Amino acid sequence: MRSIVAILPAAGVGSRMLADRPKQYLAVGPAGESMLEVTVASLARVAQIERILVAVSPEDPFIGALHFPARVSVLPTGGATRAETVNNTLAALKSGYPADTLVLVHDAARPLVAKEDVERLIEATLSMTADHPSGGCVLAMPVSDTVKRTNAEGELIEDIDRTRLVRVATPQCFRLDALTSALAGRPNVTDESSAVRAAGGRVRSIPSSPMNFKVTVPQDRTLARLLLTASELGEKRMQLRIGLGYDSHRLVEGRPFILGGVTIPHTLGLAGHSDADALLHAITDAILGAANCGNIGILFPDNDPAFKGADSAVLLKEAWMRVRETGNWTISNIDSVVVAQKPKLNPHVDAMRARIAEILGIEASQVSVKPKTNEKLGYEGREEGVTVHATVLLVKN
Ligand code: MG
Repeated sequence: MRSIVAILPAAGVGSRMLADRPKQYLAVGPAGESMLEVTVASLARVAQIERILVAVSPEDPFIGALHFPARVSVLPTGGATRAETVNNTLAALKSGYPADTLVLVHDAARPLVAKEDVERLIEATLSMTADHPSGGCVLAMPVSDTVKRTNAEGELIEDIDRTRLVRVATPQCFRLDALTSALAGRPNVTDESSAVRAAGGRVRSIPSSPMNFKVTVPQDRTLARLLLTASELGEKRMQLRIGLGYDSHRLVEGRPFILGGVTIPHTLGLAGHSDADALLHAITDAILGAANCGNIGILFPDNDPAFKGADSAVLLKEAWMRVRETGNWTISNIDSVVVAQKPKLNPHVDAMRARIAEILGIEASQVSVKPKTNEKLGYEGREEGVTVHATVLLVKN
């Protein structure tokens, strides 16, 4: 699976906000969250982003008081310019990530970036870099106003055709190797796309929602606060989400029979790329489905050697952590049906419920597992395979 990381340069001073602290630390969220926390939370809604790096000045006195999701690392890589900050952070990244890692650089002062826009940006960059590894994509807004050039006195002197004009925003997305070499020796570029183009790379603009504006002057902050409060009110009307998961695995000789995280004595076992725990897989898909975060095959591809023989408990836990970060979800309850002719599962139900609850950090009373034999009908009845159906109900706090 391709590694995707995001960098938020947050070492700036934002002098146009006329405030006592850099603008990324001013409150904009409905509960008083800082702009940086809201921006990070917006990016954390994108499940494909595996790590978010916040780059601050080494002497930053404000960052310690902020709260971030588990996927966020704060690095003291802030430099004198934005390009220097990004460069220092890329250097810190390089040891742990492959050269083709996609890097999204996003302004800390664009708290309202939409999850769907970032997902389209990633998709477009993956296809762009397949043909042009040195290029990339940026979010940009079309220009809807009439555009004219003025002279020094403000007099209109030239009409400009706006049809092909865009306002370049962020995130801007490139391969780690391409961005590193483009920024080397260009410490004064104001955005990454300028550096990449100067280095000969092609950059495509991807349409962005106009909500992705940059908070620059005090009026922008007022607008951001209003929009964030309104969207929080909108979300409160929709506090329950239901998810459905399904999985089946073949029964074969020479494999352990692992279900619900419990190894059950049996003459046959479940075949698969991972440990083939169909119950944990179905619950993983139900949780991902409830939050509309894709599916287990996208997060943990079965052709990826990293997941060969994988412990499905680790995959379930990772999926649940990602979902929780997308929207402050908690699990209300899980229900499941396991269709297996043999072995007898009822004696193991309580152990499975306890193990599933332990993996997810919930109570066993919130987890139900119901074995069925299928009365010898179908492939389950012929003991050729096992099927699992699972549902989950998520509640927003
Ligand atoms: Mg499976």
